[in-house]
Amino acid sequence: MAVIIDGKKLAEKIYAEVALETAKLPRRPCLAAVLVGDDPASHIYVRNKEGDCKKCGIESRRYDLPADTPQERLLALIDELNHDDSVDGILVQLPLPKQIDENAVIQAISPDKDVDAFHPLNVGKMVTGEPVFWPCTPAGIMEMFREYGISLDGKNCVVVGRSNIVGKPMGLLLLRANATVTYCHSHTASLAALTRQADILVVAAGRPGLITGDMIKPGAVVIDVAMNRNPDTGKLTGDVVFDEAEKIASFITPVPGGVGPMTRAMLMKNILHSV
Ligand code: NAP
Repeated sequence: MAVIIDGKKLAEKIYAEVALETAKLPRRPCLAAVLVGDDPASHIYVRNKEGDCKKCGIESRRYDLPADTPQERLLALIDELNHDDSVDGILVQLPLPKQIDENAVIQAISPDKDVDAFHPLNVGKMVTGEPVFWPCTPAGIMEMFREYGISLDGKNCVVVGRSNIVGKPMGLLLLRANATVTYCHSHTASLAALTRQADILVVAAGRPGLITGDMIKPGAVVIDVAMNRNPDTGKLTGDVVFDEAEKIASFITPVPGGVGPMTRAMLMKNILHSV
């Protein structure tokens, strides 16, 4: 049976470490969290982030804008926050309402306050290997590998999913750690043949049940990033059939309690580093 990677416990450890560091600073770091509209999930995410900040000795300021906010109004707020020296990190909760161009918003955030690490300058720096904020989800997964002594050097890593926030940066961080990386996506032919070669399999497709036990190499490390909410039960599940995978893998992340808590914890680390 696989070792279950406890993201919740590791996240608590990171909160405590961040709190120790913020306590040494002359002033508390400050996150400005901007929320546009009434998406219930986004409200929960922002509320959670505010709670995490509190645990870590980080001030959080919340800016709630109505769903019909014009793009210019949001960009003006970001500009104000960029120039406010008392604000260290800026986070605009995604997704945004249709009238707003997400890319324009991401690019408006000052790269040195871009704690989500979505700005093209930070993405570029990650590609070239310069020190930079790392996107929270892949950064949290790298922290799990470190904590559980999972070596990446020379390993075959398969990343299922190529989004800008999870799949793509995940592959880059694995490459940086000297892994051999294969990306899979919705056009990949023979997904199973590729996943079966993975020493480390990171799955972020948002397709419940996509990865069954027979698609996993015995002894592989399986990281399930997905958070699929069952519309009937409200229960969260990943993309990996956990009951099958845990019998074959050496390490596996549960959903919930795996990658999700680590994503939140890494945001706190990025805010600390934004000071
Ligand atoms: P996304 O933007 O929808 O990207 C999904 C990716 O999966 C795309 O690259 C897509 O391929 C690929 N894909 C879809 N169906 C596939 C299939 N049948 N076979 C292979 N690849 C397939 O999603 P995302 O933002 O990266 O998020 C992915 C999942 O992770 C979601 O469940 C999300 O809720 C979750 N998530 C969790 C956390 C966390 O903290 N745990 C953070 C972020 C996201 P194409 O590019 O070809 O369309």
